[in-house]
Amino acid sequence: MEAYREDTIGRLRSSSHVAVITGAGISQESGIPTFRGPGGLWREHRAEELATPEAFARDPNLVWQWYDWRRGVCAKARPNPAHRVVAAMEGFYPDFLLITQNVDGLHRRAGSEKIIEIHGNLWFARCTRCGNLDELPATPLEAIPVMCAQCSGLSRPNVVWFGETYDPVLIDEALRFLASTDLVIVIGTSGMVPIPVQLATVAKGHGAFVIDVNPTPSAVGSVADDFIQEKAGEALPALWGQVSSAGEAR
Ligand code: NAD
Ligand code: ZN
Repeated sequence: MEAYREDTIGRLRSSSHVAVITGAGISQESGIPTFRGPGGLWREHRAEELATPEAFARDPNLVWQWYDWRRGVCAKARPNPAHRVVAAMEGFYPDFLLITQNVDGLHRRAGSEKIIEIHGNLWFARCTRCGNLDELPATPLEAIPVMCAQCSGLSRPNVVWFGETYDPVLIDEALRFLASTDLVIVIGTSGMVPIPVQLATVAKGHGAFVIDVNPTPSAVGSVADDFIQEKAGEALPALWGQVSSAGEAR
């Protein structure tokens, strides 16, 4: 087993107000490709060409086909040990919040409930005319593009695309929590999308210790107090084993 830094294990044991921030990397070992890693291409298209309002305006069918393919991949995937440790943390810490950029739904399937999905999720369609949310049936969809069950307007995937703004209510909720956080664990995000680094920086400004888990150095390094350069599915259970082995020490 890896030897982790004592101050990191100490923080994991003694903190009570804890946030976890996750990106696509935590689901990589569940078989869901990250956008920029291997398998990130679909029919020769890069994600940045499809996950945009312009792509949807140009060709809604193509964008819906891609999302249907992604939903199919997610439906077959299963939560991995890292998702399960994050769910266990929610039961362990008195104050806990998971902020995820992931849209795959695996955190909920692993049991997480205190969760903000800042990029939305793949399992709902949102009407571009009336805003109604429709839960999507199992993949593959019978009809593409998806039309609104309320008004028959064109629906879009309920996700935040490149170039779009976040829901300010969700960001406020995250920022309020991070203002009194002792510990932030950032897992599997490159920081190419700036929000995880910004959120971790806010928490650090309020005195939080920041742990970064990623097999590859990333922009999160600029804010991390400890960088654990391992895959999430290996690092999280190993770390958590050392924390829980302290028994009732906290
Ligand atoms: P990203 O910018 O979050 O980068 C992925 C990061 O994960 C990289 O830094 C990579 O080194 C790291 N990583 C790879 N394997 C890992 C592992 N086993 N354990 C820990 N870290 C690992 O994600 P992106 O792919 O560039 O996507 C940009 C946006 O799209 C993000 O918001 C992302 O969350 C979202 N997205 C979500 C999903 C999903 O819901 N599963 C999949 C693709 C993209
Ligand atoms: Zn509608």
